[in-house]
Amino acid sequence: MLVKLSAAALHGVDALAVSVEVRVGRGIHFTMGGLPNSAVRESHTRVRSAIEVAGYHWPGRGITVNLAPADVRKEGTAYDLPLALGILAASGQLAAELLEGILFVGELALDGGLRPVRGAAVMASRARTMVLPTESAAEAALAQGVTVYGADSLSAVIAHLNGSVQLKPTPCGMDALLAGAANEIAEATLGAVQGQEAALRGLELAMAGGHNMLLVGPPGAGKTMIAKSAPALIPPLTAAEQIQVSRIHSVRKKSSGQHKFGRPFRAVHHSTTQTTLLGGGADPRPGEISLAHGGVLFLDELGEWDRHVLNALRAPLESGRITISRAQVSVDFPCEFQLIAATNPCPCGYLGHVSRRCDCSEHRITAYRRRFSGPLLDRIDIQLDIHPVNLRALDPRKFTGDSVGVRKARVLRARAIQSKRNPGGRTNSRLNPAEVLRIVKISNALRLFLIETMNSYHLSARSHDRVLKMARTLADLDGRKNVSKRDLAEALQYRRAGQ
Ligand SMILES: [Zn+2]
Repeated sequence: MLVKLSAAALHGVDALAVSVEVRVGRGIHFTMGGLPNSAVRESHTRVRSAIEVAGYHWPGRGITVNLAPADVRKEGTAYDLPLALGILAASGQLAAELLEGILFVGELALDGGLRPVRGAAVMASRARTMVLPTESAAEAALAQGVTVYGADSLSAVIAHLNGSVQLKPTPCGMDALLAGAANEIAEATLGAVQGQEAALRGLELAMAGGHNMLLVGPPGAGKTMIAKSAPALIPPLTAAEQIQVSRIHSVRKKSSGQHKFGRPFRAVHHSTTQTTLLGGGADPRPGEISLAHGGVLFLDELGEWDRHVLNALRAPLESGRITISRAQVSVDFPCEFQLIAATNPCPCGYLGHVSRRCDCSEHRITAYRRRFSGPLLDRIDIQLDIHPVNLRALDPRKFTGDSVGVRKARVLRARAIQSKRNPGGRTNSRLNPAEVLRIVKISNALRLFLIETMNSYHLSARSHDRVLKMARTLADLDGRKNVSKRDLAEALQYRRAGQ
């Protein structure tokens, strides 16, 4: 008897339909076709043990398994569950019609327990009804229009199919996820950097317009704290964004039962390899830049990074997508992230410091900056100097700046204006040159002011559009229709000579 079941294979952040075909016949053999890798072949041992522990009979006759289509690459252990059910049905121990229209995913332990899989949120998009391990169920239930049943063992799945002990559908946790989006840690961090007025203004601008930002300052000036408070000022993810973020994180690793994917903030160390940063592996998985999709990628100590690794960031930073090619497969991962980077001004850190001396030679300073200058810096709108905080400014009685709530409200308003006005609801930082011309209209007098100031500051032509986009965001923060001279002047302060 031939039995067919529905399963799925991962391909980037998508899933492809796979049909698991099982036949039990004569002879003594267990064969599998359809390009399965070693993990699929090893499933023989696990499936046999799980079937016997569940109290069923392992057919002594020949079992032939085919995973179709043959040209779809299949990896991992997620086919254990459909294999076990298929063998039971093909050997007449389970009614085959009970398996129809259900997507089965799950790894089996030798004792028949079900273990979590990778990519549950992605595979769920292929299904109407899905049965999978309990730990992966919450993740799968985020997908729209799918009924998800989580089970702990092969026996529980069989009991559910037979109707003897029904499993409860896993509720979609999307509403709870969207409601609980406030980032308390980031808000507390932002509260703690009060007093750094200029830095906070720069951060507000960056988060409002999605502008990439470089923080430059000596050790201990608070660069990392400022960067880590950024998530307090980004609006929560929409449901559509939440689904996309869940899919990316879901294919990264096996689900752990947690599925709190808020707007991402990924802090990455300079020892990170190119593969970890960009993605890769034999079965390509998303890298840090994709895990930061929809949120912030934070690179600390930019001067310590390998220049080649930083250069590899340029193309994905521009396009918002990365293609990972391997011998048998080529996949695309989205990576629209906002870059926040931090660096010391020189190797010792004290160049330009008010009270400490810098020991670095000019040659060393140039070499240090060359690592991240050029193409990467070209894609950064805001360069912000961070000065060590004046201790008196930390006295809360002397603090006169805006509260976290006020800043957040301003950023949210500016984001709302952009999503209504800009093509595709994109942030100002992602406008192309034609759109800048159309959306950031300024008078001839202001244009002249901009060009003259750019010349006197020795700013390159590349700064022109970046200044206009930042000025547009500053006007949006104020809720103003037109860009003013003050907006342009403020935006110009965030650029450096020669850039
Ligand atoms: Zn120095």
